Amino acid sequence: MVEFSYCMPSKIVLGTGSTKKLQDHIVGNKVLMICDPFLYKIGTAEKIGSVLTGCEVAYFHEIEPNPSCESVDAAAAAARELGATTVIGLGGGSSMDVSKIVSCLVTMEGSIYDYYSGGTKKLGHRTTRLICIPTTAGTGSEVTNVGVFTNRNTHIKMPFVTDEFWPDVALLDPELTYSLPQGVTASTGMDAFCHAIEAYWNKASQPICDAIAADAMEMILENIKNAYDNGSDPVAREHMQLASLMAGVAFSQTRTTGIHALSFPLTTEFGAPHGIACSITLPAFIRISGEQAADKMAKLCKRLGYADVNALADAVEALMVSMKMPVRLSELGVKESDLDHLTEVGLGAAIIHLTPAEMNPTTVRALLASIL
Ligand code: NAD
Repeated sequence: MVEFSYCMPSKIVLGTGSTKKLQDHIVGNKVLMICDPFLYKIGTAEKIGSVLTGCEVAYFHEIEPNPSCESVDAAAAAARELGATTVIGLGGGSSMDVSKIVSCLVTMEGSIYDYYSGGTKKLGHRTTRLICIPTTAGTGSEVTNVGVFTNRNTHIKMPFVTDEFWPDVALLDPELTYSLPQGVTASTGMDAFCHAIEAYWNKASQPICDAIAADAMEMILENIKNAYDNGSDPVAREHMQLASLMAGVAFSQTRTTGIHALSFPLTTEFGAPHGIACSITLPAFIRISGEQAADKMAKLCKRLGYADVNALADAVEALMVSMKMPVRLSELGVKESDLDHLTEVGLGAAIIHLTPAEMNPTTVRALLASIL
């Protein structure tokens, strides 16, 4: 018996040059574009904003990786001052995630801390238009109802999930990813692979997402190295962006699993970029995924051209090494004495129990020790 629900309220527009028609998606005439300093400095934000006519366009360009609640509040203040009718998140997951909460806060009172990380207020219904334009091919944030923020006081990074965060429009132009450096291409691309495989093996998996996720994984394995070796290869970049989008659609329905649960402390406490913090445990999780998802994983391995989960894990690890990505926790500065703590924090994230294997202090610690 199959039972599931599927909800994708975001309009998706993908194509080279798609941002030239940004005007079609705007509501009102006060537009706040949120991005990081780099995308502003190289002129990408203003180039995209310049197509808008009859609008007052402001830019908030101070978003840091793994955005803090303080950055959210500063961006929300800018949105309120402008009276934004449309908020655009341009960038990687960091800027897109901030745009989601800012598009709510522009008409709601208070700080993000009132609604998240111990806050007790409930977000009201968002009335401001939200458009997300990804410039990395990784997070899929443009099609999820998730925002991930870091509480600088507690050093805790955790997801905020609410239906108010579904973007109204996901606008994707592969050309925006041509400027990604090799390291970001690798880490964000492997983040997308994690999303796809975590949706696929998830205890909450479902047939629509299985199909989308399997396609995404195939596309990533076929294209990530080409995108890494030749950043302006149009085919590789387009396929990576499409795969990242599809992986986002898949995990937006199922959520993620142990890989993401363990990634949060690896980022906040060891400074690992999100994609690296995720993919470093990917081969180890693949090896144990047959435990409770044997048939599905066998089917996936066959489709991807590998004999079994161990062969797939070996291939993924070799791919990561070929892109100069760390594959041992010690490369991030993790020591044996850190493993109990990482285990405890990882087990504190509810999504870890969506992993298709027993997740308890002994098994999680053993998994981490196997890649130390
Ligand atoms: P990011 O947004 O933090 O950006 C990483 C770096 O890439 C930045 O220095 C940025 O300037 C640079 N960059 C971005 N686009 C570029 C381009 N086209 N050319 C050159 N440089 C570019 O990285 P990310 O991996 O996309 O996002 C990570 C964040 O997203 C984390 O906070 C993570 O937790 C979150 N996340 C959110 C979701 C979701 O569903 N909301 C899903 C996964 C991850």
